[in-house]
Amino acid sequence: MKFKPANNIQDLQYFGEFGGVNPSISDSSTYTFLSAKTMFDTFEGNADGCYLYSRHSTPSNLYLGEALAAMEGTETANVTASGMGAITPVLLQLCHAGDHIVSSRTIYGGTYAFLKNFTPKLAIQTTFVDITRLDVVEASITENTKVIYCETVSNPLLEVADIQGLAALAKKYNLKLVVDNTFSPLSVSPIKLGADVVIHSLTKFINGSSDTVGGVVCGTQEFIDELRNVNDGACMLLGSTMDSLRAASVLKNLRTLHIRMKQHSTNGAYLAKKFEGDGIKTVYPGLASHPSHELFKKMMNEEYGFGGMLTLDVGSLEKANELMELMQHRNLGYLAVSLGFYKTLFSAPGTSTSSEIPEDEQEEMGLTDGLIRFSIGLDNDIERTYQEMKQCMIEIGIL
Ligand SMILES: *Cc1c(COP(=O)(O)O)cnc(C)c1O
Repeated sequence: MKFKPANNIQDLQYFGEFGGVNPSISDSSTYTFLSAKTMFDTFEGNADGCYLYSRHSTPSNLYLGEALAAMEGTETANVTASGMGAITPVLLQLCHAGDHIVSSRTIYGGTYAFLKNFTPKLAIQTTFVDITRLDVVEASITENTKVIYCETVSNPLLEVADIQGLAALAKKYNLKLVVDNTFSPLSVSPIKLGADVVIHSLTKFINGSSDTVGGVVCGTQEFIDELRNVNDGACMLLGSTMDSLRAASVLKNLRTLHIRMKQHSTNGAYLAKKFEGDGIKTVYPGLASHPSHELFKKMMNEEYGFGGMLTLDVGSLEKANELMELMQHRNLGYLAVSLGFYKTLFSAPGTSTSSEIPEDEQEEMGLTDGLIRFSIGLDNDIERTYQEMKQCMIEIGIL
C-alpha cells in the first residue's frame, strides 16, 4: 500500500479544551501533581500522560511531534528548538567516546562543522564520504562505527542518497541510519525506505514562514524515550527543547505543507527545465540530467514532486553576486540563506552556508564559486518570474 504522509497528518484529530478547532497552548513550564507518588513515578519515567517540566515535554510539543511522526511514519517524535538542536543530541545519544560515524560529505554546514570540529573533542571520529557510492560507504565502516549519517537531498549540491541501499548496509553492520530529510518533506519518506531516525529542520519548508528555528527527531518510542530520559537523555540534558507557543504555531503551518510543497515543486521544475534549456548548468533532481534522477523517482511520493531546491552555476562568484543583487533589486526573491519561504531565496553556498567547509574540500566535492542555491518560492505566475530572471541574466551577460 502506498504511504500517504499528508493523509496521515490530516487524519489526526485534536480539539482545544473548550472545543477549539486548534489544540489549546500549554503556557506553563511546570505541572502540578495530585500526589507525591505520581511525581516520583514521572521522574522514573513510569507515569504516562503526566507532564513534569516543559524541558521534558509539553502537551503542545507532543501534538506537533505526533503530527510529524504521522508524516514520517514513526512511532513518535520529539520536537526541538532548532534543526541543530535535533541533530546534535541524536548523534551524541548514539555515539560515545571511541565511536565512529560515516557521514555524507555534502551536508548542512553546521552539521559538517559539528562532526568535523566538535565531536572529535569528545573522541567521536567521522569519515566523510561520497554518499552516492555505496561501495565507498561500506569500505569506510569500521568496528567502531555506530551511525551512517546523510541528507536525503544534500545541501547544497542536491546529491540524492540511496536510502534503501544505505539501510541495507546499516542492517548488515548493525548501525543506525540517521537521515536529515529537511530538503524533501512529504516527497521522500526515509523510514519507509529503511532509515532508523529521521530529522528535520522545521525552520525550512515545514514551518515555511521564515519566522522561527525549530527541529524534530522522528523515531521509535524507545529511542525518543532515551533522548528524553532525565538521567542520560541528550535532548533532556542538553536542553534544546522547543517552546510550547512555537510548537503551536508550527503545527498550524504544517496544515498547508502539502499544498506548499506541490507549488514549490511545480515552480522548481519549471525554472530548472527552462534554465537548463537556456544552457545554464542546472542541478535539480527532477531533471533527467541529474545523476540520481531515476533513484529519486524510485524513492519519492510522486504527488509532491522533486522539491523547490535547485542550483545554477553562473561561472564565477562575481557573476553570482551581481545576479543575486539584481534579482533582489527586481523583487524576484531575497539574497538570504535558509529555504522553504514563500519568496524565492538565493545565496552562494561557498561563501555562506557551506563556508565551514575548507576551500580545497569545496572544490573536491564540486562546490564551485559560481554556484547559486535557489529555494524557489510559491510564485503564482512562474512564467513571469522566469522571464524576469532571464532578463537579469541577459543584462549581466550570463545569457
Ligand atoms: C537549516 C538546516 C539544518 C539546521 O537547522 P536549524 O533549524 O537552522 O538549526 C540542518 N540540516 C539542513 C539540511 C538544513 O537545511
